[in-house]
Amino acid sequence: MTQTIHIVGGGLAGSEAAWQIAEAGHRAVLHEMRPRRGTEAHRGEGLAELVCSNSFRSDDAHGNAVGLLHQEMRSLGSLIMRAADAHQVPAGGALAVDRDGFSAAVTAALAGHPNVTVVREEVEGLPPEEWGPCIVATGPLTAPALAEGIRGLTGRDSLAFFDAIAPIVHRDSIDMEVAWFQSRYDKPGPGGTGADYLNCPMDREQYDAFVAALCAGEKIGFKEWEGTPYFDGCLPIEVMAERGPETLRHGPMKPVGLTNPRAPDRKPCAIVQLRQDNALGTLYNMVGFQTKLTYSEQVRIFRTIPGLENAEFARLGGLHRNTYLDSPRLLDATLRLKARPALRFAGQITGCEGYVESAAVGLMAGRFAVAEAMDAPLQPLPQTTALGALIAHITGGHVSAEEGGGPRSFQPMNVNFGLFPPLDRMPRGEAGRRLRGPEKAALKKRALTDRARADLAAWMAGDIAVPAAAE
Ligand SMILES: Cc1cc2nc3c(=O)[nH]c(=O)nc-3n(C[C@H](O)[C@H](O)[C@H](O)COP(=O)(O)OP(=O)(O)OC[C@H]3O[C@@H](n4cnc5c(N)ncnc54)[C@H](O)[C@@H]3O)c2cc1C
Repeated sequence: MTQTIHIVGGGLAGSEAAWQIAEAGHRAVLHEMRPRRGTEAHRGEGLAELVCSNSFRSDDAHGNAVGLLHQEMRSLGSLIMRAADAHQVPAGGALAVDRDGFSAAVTAALAGHPNVTVVREEVEGLPPEEWGPCIVATGPLTAPALAEGIRGLTGRDSLAFFDAIAPIVHRDSIDMEVAWFQSRYDKPGPGGTGADYLNCPMDREQYDAFVAALCAGEKIGFKEWEGTPYFDGCLPIEVMAERGPETLRHGPMKPVGLTNPRAPDRKPCAIVQLRQDNALGTLYNMVGFQTKLTYSEQVRIFRTIPGLENAEFARLGGLHRNTYLDSPRLLDATLRLKARPALRFAGQITGCEGYVESAAVGLMAGRFAVAEAMDAPLQPLPQTTALGALIAHITGGHVSAEEGGGPRSFQPMNVNFGLFPPLDRMPRGEAGRRLRGPEKAALKKRALTDRARADLAAWMAGDIAVPAAAE
């Protein structure tokens, strides 16, 4: 039977979700508030407007996680990828698009689809229950009345209006000859062992140079409409440094309750702590290091921290206006709100980050909604695929600091190889030669993406994507 599924928000995620639903033979009613009501960042009235850069980042499906995500979306019939490919502009190994042509193509494809109705209206407050299944994809600048409605349903702390992103480091790039595992005062806390944090020690000279670098480093300003979205509990690391040379070592870098096993008699001047970020244990976040430093400055300055000289960053820090849910707590594995399962969420509001990731989550939300309408549940996506890794992180893969008694810690995440389960066996060179450096990294990425392609193909063969709706 054909079902009608409502989608709120005609951005990257909502447009893709509507397309997937319509292509599966169901009716999609897409509610987009522009041009009747604008946002601080959108300029036009087209669907899937790119609000800033025109890049979908790397298109390398063998060496880059977002390139793999492109490939997976293409193989699942993504409208966003089809329009991006058709409106590509030269950008080396990246996929960049002519933003107007891209948005016009998405708008025309949806407007011309017999199963899609586009309604230009703001959904003020929660979508009415009589709509039945509904996907909310209203993005980082969700209109206030709907945001308030969501907060009323889920609790005030469950929907954030700003992010405060600390950099995340691949665990296997941290130098364990320098760093050590220990929780402050060896406290196990709930769910911990007493050795849950990775600690990187600094002597006085290193600390003073680090503070000076933070103060001098190039920063990104806030947009006028963003205001200054921080308060004393979550100051950017460089703002703390500017408050005085001792501030950081009495704040997030305090060296108390920790002993360096390699120099137990020498007290470090300061310590940078990293906390496990995902259940796989492949990613660690730099505690208290939210920042407005530019990305290149973050890499340069944070690699001066002892133990992080060769750090590979899965995500760099930032602070932005951004409306997003505490998804690992609130959403089930198919992106439904536990408190009201008729509502599904998609796009940046789920805590993914980026155009491609938002569209990818929209794609899966559309498919989950269709599967539910058909009463034919989808097999979970293998976490070894880029789509599966991203959804798994949003819906539960992140390890919350709350579990250890800390504050809410889920922050927006882009797709990256740290979200993928590690390989069973590291690839080796010819005649079983052990590999190192860039050669090892390239072969590892190749093995991860090959595994993803094989697993996605198997998943698609098992489910044959979404069955077409019977008339
Ligand atoms: C200023 C800014 C710059 C960014 N720059 C980049 C970048 O360069 N690269 C990148 O990859 N990512 C960027 N992002 C992050 C993010 O990937 C994009 O915001 C992306 O567009 C998110 O897709 P989405 O579909 O979730 O939301 P959006 O694309 O924002 O779509 C949401 C849609 O919902 C509509 N809407 C909101 N509330 C309602 C309502 N109540 N009723 C009806 N319609 C509603 C909005 O008008 C909008 O069209 C940026 C974000 C912001 C805010």
